[in-house]
Amino acid sequence: MPSSHLTDNLPDGNWPVFEPGWVWLVGAGPGDPGLLTLHGLNALRQADVIIYDALVDKSISSWASANTEIEYAGKRGGKPSPLQRDISLRLIELTRQNKRVLRLKGGDPFIFGRGGEEIETLAAEGIPFQVVPGITAASGCASYAGIPLTNRDHAQSVRFIAGHLHSGEMDLNWPELVQPNQTLVFYMGLSGMETICRSLKAHGLAASTPAALIEKGTTDQQRVFVGDLDSLPSIVRDAGAKAPTLIIVGHVVSLQSTLAWFNIKE
Ligand code: SAH
Repeated sequence: MPSSHLTDNLPDGNWPVFEPGWVWLVGAGPGDPGLLTLHGLNALRQADVIIYDALVDKSISSWASANTEIEYAGKRGGKPSPLQRDISLRLIELTRQNKRVLRLKGGDPFIFGRGGEEIETLAAEGIPFQVVPGITAASGCASYAGIPLTNRDHAQSVRFIAGHLHSGEMDLNWPELVQPNQTLVFYMGLSGMETICRSLKAHGLAASTPAALIEKGTTDQQRVFVGDLDSLPSIVRDAGAKAPTLIIVGHVVSLQSTLAWFNIKE
């Protein structure tokens, strides 16, 4: 067991000990700090160094113990960002100093988080690691927006899709994406939103298919824009939405008008 002051704020239990020389890859959730898991909090209380990403709420690192070093490894769109290789090398360097290294990533490290790549490097070097999942943006944003991702009447499957543009193009398997009764969740889709909506229509989805964009989901700055494949791009453009955003397409979006509960202005 970790010593008792480290497990302050945690329910009684046999919390795993964070051994020196280990890396724990921890998901912080999509924004609201309360969405960190208890395993994540336990790791935070014991870490010597925390290396965190841009989308992690600052208050999460403030829950670490007072002498924990905090390093930023953020990758912000448009700004110079450290190379993945540099981050991996830094993790290796710190474990060689016998530190307990917590790599804190937004959402879930294994969903569009490059968490797999980081620990592949560790595995190749024989460095021990553990992975603590997080709530991914799709789950967090959908819940806080009032959009169930599946629903018996509307969708029996859900797809998480990387919606970023590569030199102005989006190389996706569109015929698979336009199948009936499925919900599409596009990560990183703000700049490609027009391409997404246009391509879905071109491959057979009705222009009236409900679609939503959630900006800064789960945070107190959350905004939810709802329309359909025809109207959403101009709604979002007029509102000046900024990243991070998530796009949800499918009939489940029509439930939002009844199920929205978070940050509702009376
Ligand atoms: N590993 C993360 C995703 C990292 S990719 C996860 O599991 O959530 C970064 C993308 O996630 C952003 O471009 C955006 O599409 C989405 N995202 C992350 N946090 C978000 C938030 N609070 N609101 C809306 N989208 C978010």
